[in-house]
Amino acid sequence: MSATKQAAYLRKLKNYLIFLKDCGYSEVPQAIELNPDFSSSSAIGKPSIISTDSQTMARSSRKKEEHLKEVRDELGDCTRCKLCEDRKNIVFGSGNANADLVFVGEGPGADEDEQGFPFIGRAGKKLTDIIEKGMGLNREKDTYICNIVKCRPPGNRDPESEEIAACKPFLEKQLKAIKPKVIVALGKPAASTLLGRTVPITKERGTWHEYQGIKLMLTFHPAYLLRFYTLENRKMVMDDMNKVLAELKR
Ligand code: SF4
Repeated sequence: MSATKQAAYLRKLKNYLIFLKDCGYSEVPQAIELNPDFSSSSAIGKPSIISTDSQTMARSSRKKEEHLKEVRDELGDCTRCKLCEDRKNIVFGSGNANADLVFVGEGPGADEDEQGFPFIGRAGKKLTDIIEKGMGLNREKDTYICNIVKCRPPGNRDPESEEIAACKPFLEKQLKAIKPKVIVALGKPAASTLLGRTVPITKERGTWHEYQGIKLMLTFHPAYLLRFYTLENRKMVMDDMNKVLAELKR
């Protein structure tokens, strides 16, 4: 085979793999017999099945995105609690509406309030490292990240119960729209809000719970990890994330 022909095949293979990835595949299904021609109907071993699957996946994916957008629209320029008074931006959430994994934190900090995105400050970078270096996932494609309150509590204090109560319906609707396989609660306020009771996080981290039929893992907030940056704490968080990975692969 000439070098030009080989390069053309490799280009087609690359495009085909990108196509599979766009359809939501993270690995090449073994049943597929790759045809070096990659012409429209022969590129895939069972084109009709793949095509139906990909159409269904694309439809479900669009539905989740639309549903999430409706939740954001309903939130509007929210003034349902006093956190609206000092906020610069509502920090709704970011990531993939079709993700199997959702991280729920406490509330936006100064950087997040400034830019309108969750977990972009120091703690956010730590969370990104946990997701990407520790778990081998892509933060934007494989996860969705949000908080229990969407506006910054002044001085980064814990959100108060009335603020959590006012904002919680939107967290519930976000999670209902995404329907992930696993939720990870980052820290005590997130764990307590999702479980509806006061959670002693140091005792209960690393344990599985359930939120509306979805598996819920409790772990430390990355800001706590930065404050108490011990090998033991880092290992505990990675142990928790390994449990999450195992559950996602089931
Ligand atoms: S924290 Fe939530 S309920 Fe309170 S003003 Fe912001 S968006 Fe509205």
